[in-house]
Amino acid sequence: MQKEPTSPPLHRIPIKTAHRRIVTPIPASQSQPVLEKLRRYEPRALDVLPPVLWDRAQGHQIYDAFGNCWIDFTSGIYVANVGHAHPDVCAALHQQIGQPLLHAYLYATEIRARLVEKLVQISAPNLTKTFLASTGSETIEVAIKLARLHGLAIDAKKTVIVSHAGAYHGRTMGAQQLASAPDQQKWIVHPDPDLVQIPFPSGEDGPQALASALDHLQANGIQPERIAAFIVEGYQGIGGPLFFPSDYIQAMANWAHDHQALVVFDEIQSGFGRTGKLFAYEHYGIDADLVCCGKGISSSLPLSAVLGRGPLMDLAAPGHLSSTHTANPMSCAAALATLEVIQREGLVAAAADKGKIVQYRLQKIQQRYPDQIGHVLGRGMVHAIIFIHPDSGDPNTELAQRVTDCAIENGLMLFYAHGSGSVKIGPPLTIPKDALEEGLTVLTDSVSACVG
Ligand code: PMP
Repeated sequence: MQKEPTSPPLHRIPIKTAHRRIVTPIPASQSQPVLEKLRRYEPRALDVLPPVLWDRAQGHQIYDAFGNCWIDFTSGIYVANVGHAHPDVCAALHQQIGQPLLHAYLYATEIRARLVEKLVQISAPNLTKTFLASTGSETIEVAIKLARLHGLAIDAKKTVIVSHAGAYHGRTMGAQQLASAPDQQKWIVHPDPDLVQIPFPSGEDGPQALASALDHLQANGIQPERIAAFIVEGYQGIGGPLFFPSDYIQAMANWAHDHQALVVFDEIQSGFGRTGKLFAYEHYGIDADLVCCGKGISSSLPLSAVLGRGPLMDLAAPGHLSSTHTANPMSCAAALATLEVIQREGLVAAAADKGKIVQYRLQKIQQRYPDQIGHVLGRGMVHAIIFIHPDSGDPNTELAQRVTDCAIENGLMLFYAHGSGSVKIGPPLTIPKDALEEGLTVLTDSVSACVG
């Protein structure tokens, strides 16, 4: 494997390299009035990210208006898979504006027809229909609806949907109940007793882990035949990326097949090449009945989709699936261009290939600091370093935050998951290899600076 490049020492402004430019302290003083305005007029729940004022973002780089430029290791939280503002995406948007057709509600448009056809064409042969929406959470709500309609068509009591501890799934009423964040669920007040969780499989072999989980449900009064669907994230992002053992998912798919239950994959974060496969569930060697997509589907504008087996998708009666901004023509144009770029530039294979560079460099960091780094995890273009307290092995959120801040001050945009000690590495799949290496060197130096 290649020699690790060296970078200029940390914290010496100005930093001017091939891919980074930091010419002010971070936060830049000029950004303060805008940051203050956001704090004043928005709920405090939004005030969690580092104080960087994005002015423009292009390819693998993010710029402020004060001369600073970062290498993006976030993809705007796994959205910009083809890079920010890819020229083809911009051209498609300009063309759509020029037409002009900016909104059409659910009335038929050609761009929508082209997009749904394309989505079905690039997906597994069993996924034959797709419903377009706006957000990832919305697709989870649609999946819950379709899973329940599927179960009810078999038996009035077949209404249980099983998710996994540690999942995210989104913030709306149903999605939040499938997720694992007790401190964020108080507002639900009347939780749906048929949305249940089983542990993330660990330790035992997969089939055994599934059998124990189902036994546990039964002991708690939930007969396994009442399960209408399992919902699984392609990988768990919180505290991860944690991929499931393949034998566990295969056991689940077999069980579901034998018991007329569905397997639903949440690929909102993991889809469109991020893990080195078009969808992460392909790593597990199974078929999914429903696939929830968002984020990287358009690399930019809000769009999401549920892909599914035709008969399942048709369970909702005419008029029972809709959303005002379903298939917004601008979002469709961005998505269509994104999918074409993913195919033409071979980005799924590129993600798998560049992922090996990331893995190698992260392992080097871990070898250097085995007491502070519990794990390095990942596949393709999604990885994480999990920082721990040396004595207890508990997540070290403070260290994760310090490393993130240090990297940002040195021109590398990173983020960490609150409470998990996990610093994420998720660059656009298009990032040039030398920029990837440069970013990994900043990360290495930031860890050294903060651990030291
Ligand atoms: N599921 C997963 C795995 C996600 O990562 C997200 C978003 N972070 C969601 C669901 C919810 O998507 P959205 O924020 O678009 O509603």
